[in-house]
Amino acid sequence: MYAVTVIPGTADSLRLVDNYPEPSPQEGPVLVETLSVGVCGTDREIIDGAFGEAPPGSDTLVLGHESLGRVIEDPTGQLRPGDPIAGIVRHPDPVPCPNCAAREWDMCRNGLYTEHGIKARQGFARQRWRTQPEFAVPLAPGLAEVGVLLEPASVVAKGWEHVDRIGARSVWRPRRVLVTGAGPIGLLAALLGQQRGLEVHVLDRAEVGHKPELVDRLGATYHAGPVMALDFEPDIVLECTGAPTVVIDVMDKVGRNGIVCLTGVSTGGRTIEIDAGALNHSLVLENNVVFGSVNANRRHWLQAAEALARADVGWLAGLITRREDLDHYAEAYEGQPDDIKVVLEFPAAR
Ligand SMILES: [Zn+2]
Repeated sequence: MYAVTVIPGTADSLRLVDNYPEPSPQEGPVLVETLSVGVCGTDREIIDGAFGEAPPGSDTLVLGHESLGRVIEDPTGQLRPGDPIAGIVRHPDPVPCPNCAAREWDMCRNGLYTEHGIKARQGFARQRWRTQPEFAVPLAPGLAEVGVLLEPASVVAKGWEHVDRIGARSVWRPRRVLVTGAGPIGLLAALLGQQRGLEVHVLDRAEVGHKPELVDRLGATYHAGPVMALDFEPDIVLECTGAPTVVIDVMDKVGRNGIVCLTGVSTGGRTIEIDAGALNHSLVLENNVVFGSVNANRRHWLQAAEALARADVGWLAGLITRREDLDHYAEAYEGQPDDIKVVLEFPAAR
């Protein structure tokens, strides 16, 4: 069968293999046929050789952590053949740490977790894969075209859940949320903010194109200037760019008792000048909280599936700006300026 593979640590080792072995029953009883996989910055970092780890005993890693598939068989009877599902990316560490033992593998303490298509576990960019029922998330039938957005939506659902939990420290009636970055994570963060009845503002560098249009269609307000030019103080910020200046500016900009959730991963190596004392002064005197958030556990995947089911499918489809088939797999992994989400489609999707 077809699989998209890399040799981790080796740049330009991206290949489409046509004789990849069928998934081993050891991977789980649920057999899934791949419809599509989403492409994100993590895939590009792995292709560049900067990131990624093959499973023990293998020197190749199958890519793909954003999945959409159809159940072929589940002998446990928990999923029905034909059901659209997405596969949960992270699996708990084998020790397990206290968090993984409680199925909160997104908060793993020892770093020994594994992740499909990223860390020591084969990915979903192969025609068929297997998993345990606990790691398969059913999608509403109407989401069959856009279900590949469930993985980024799960990351966002976790960020929002943690905002809520932090907010519960005192009386908490947030009104305005600022989302920085209008990529797939930012736009899905905006969607969940809108579903909570908040006044949603989205800031990005793009002045025209899909991003302002999608924000507009959501009923949110789009801003193309710098954070410090905004004429309001948000109660909540979901930072989805990882751009150092934006990260520092939103910590400064957030209002009293405000919460900043950082989801963007910076590459490092760039130095900017900040007045750390003034920043500390404003964080302390305003009771602000800044926290990082990564990955998602099953509870967040279910929250995300619910959020997508409530959303306008046409709007979600607008986030997928390019679909490539396997013949053009390499193009799928090359970013183009107006891309939001690029999807690689497998033969079963046609
Ligand atoms: Zn753990």
